[in-house]
Amino acid sequence: MARFIFVAGGVMSGIGKGVATASIGKILSARGFRVTAVKIDPYLNVDAGTMNPTEHGEVFVTEDGMECDQDVGNYERFLGVNLPRDNYITSGSIYQAVINRERNLGYEGRTVELIPHVPEEVMRRLHHAAAKAKADFVLVEIGGTVGEYQNTVFIEAARMMKMESPAGVLFVLVSYLPVPSVLGEMKTKPTQQAVRTMNSMGIQPDIILARSTHALDEPRKKKISVFCNVAARDVISAPDVHGLIYRIPLNFEKDGLGNRILEKFGIRKKANGKMKDWAAMVRRAERVATPIKIGIVGKYFGTGAFTLSDSYLSVIEAIKHAAWAEGRKPEITWLNSETYETDPRSIKELSKFDGIIIPGGFGSRGVDGKIRAIKYCREKKIPYLGLCYGLQLAVVEFARNVCKLKGAHTTEIDARTAHPVVHTLPEQLMNIQEKKMGGSMRLGAYICEFKKGTKAERAYGERMVSERHRHRYEVNNDYRDQLEKNGFIVSGLNPERNLVEIMELRGHPFFLGTQAHPELKSRPLHPHPLFRAFIKAAKK
Ligand code: GLN
Repeated sequence: MARFIFVAGGVMSGIGKGVATASIGKILSARGFRVTAVKIDPYLNVDAGTMNPTEHGEVFVTEDGMECDQDVGNYERFLGVNLPRDNYITSGSIYQAVINRERNLGYEGRTVELIPHVPEEVMRRLHHAAAKAKADFVLVEIGGTVGEYQNTVFIEAARMMKMESPAGVLFVLVSYLPVPSVLGEMKTKPTQQAVRTMNSMGIQPDIILARSTHALDEPRKKKISVFCNVAARDVISAPDVHGLIYRIPLNFEKDGLGNRILEKFGIRKKANGKMKDWAAMVRRAERVATPIKIGIVGKYFGTGAFTLSDSYLSVIEAIKHAAWAEGRKPEITWLNSETYETDPRSIKELSKFDGIIIPGGFGSRGVDGKIRAIKYCREKKIPYLGLCYGLQLAVVEFARNVCKLKGAHTTEIDARTAHPVVHTLPEQLMNIQEKKMGGSMRLGAYICEFKKGTKAERAYGERMVSERHRHRYEVNNDYRDQLEKNGFIVSGLNPERNLVEIMELRGHPFFLGTQAHPELKSRPLHPHPLFRAFIKAAKK
């Protein structure tokens, strides 16, 4: 029987609830339990694919092609598993399912109501995710904070599940304790209020994770305990970790969280034997001192709710994983490609970096600057890794400047280019024309077969691999011969559909682009081979 641990937020959002959820999962899986994690987003969007990453952070993609919240990526990185599409729930997808069922007479003539039918659909989805993973524990993170109208039906679903199985459900509140600068001390009142709000919804938290800039002291632990009706040992300190999120499970264990959870469920304790590798990885990450400078070239996006590090979370984590494994301390700089358009001479700044990455992207802004950056890396032999758009634009640059195909472009930017070196497949053209944009890109895992003797093959050390995709455009096969004749070779191909997966430049220390998003599969304990090869080249 699966046990459910609901994680809700108090006081404010953006305090690392996803990483906290992932960390709880990690400490349970390190004890040998089978753990899965589900993210609930209270948006009406059916998936995250239609949301701008500056609004909502990175769009993560699962093996089976679900476009979801970046927290699903955190779960995968911490748990070291691939999660299925079932593990991402939005209000939109729940309402859609309820309405579809109603249209199909699935409610057999009854009145369909917000309560209980919507929470019932949520419960069905959660039980399904549990069964599919054969999980001992299911972590369920409810987006937003308690007290919002938006996530009420999900809190309600959690309450109903507790009623259904009192011994099988636990509630964790991730709350925030501010330290106002005028006072210089940690305040517990907002947390008390968050608990009261939860209580009014019929839920008493079993465990409180106290997020703050600093560790919780004993007097405050006691205060939260008394006012929030939670034993002091169930109030867990969760101080800032200054970038090294992988330390959090270790901190939680230091505060006894794993044992407490098992005790509460009445489960006999198991040692956390599988935490050793993880702890060693964290120590290595903390110890590496020799810097490696990586520049990420992209378009600048102002000051939205989400920072660049949120919008490119997996890329940044993949760089870190590979750098640590290679004994380097990653120094990542965001470079605004538009400055290479307005001030072409500033391109020289790229020579200060050990390696350059152009990550995934959409649309025309900053594209000319990216193409200039690619040209510079190609000519000055700076290690270059292109991810999706980063491959497509490398093809454009090479076609124009080496193959001398004047005006070559991707049809995403110039639909009438004389040389559509990157274009859409017919089925994608139909989607665009019919405005069927949600969930209709080439999404999820596709296999890639290598050409023998290439850098890509050597990096992976396998004959065939599978990587996750999220794009509408492809390298145009009509131009492959010309590109290859001039030295930009196709080193990986999708054999089922004869599509370019990876290309690399002959005679360059490392100039490689992939149509996929390898960053999505990098794990702290298993750095991605392409990122590792890139960092290796950058070290030189
Ligand atoms: N805009 C490009 C496409 O749709 C690249 C997408 C990406 O980088 N993920 O094909």
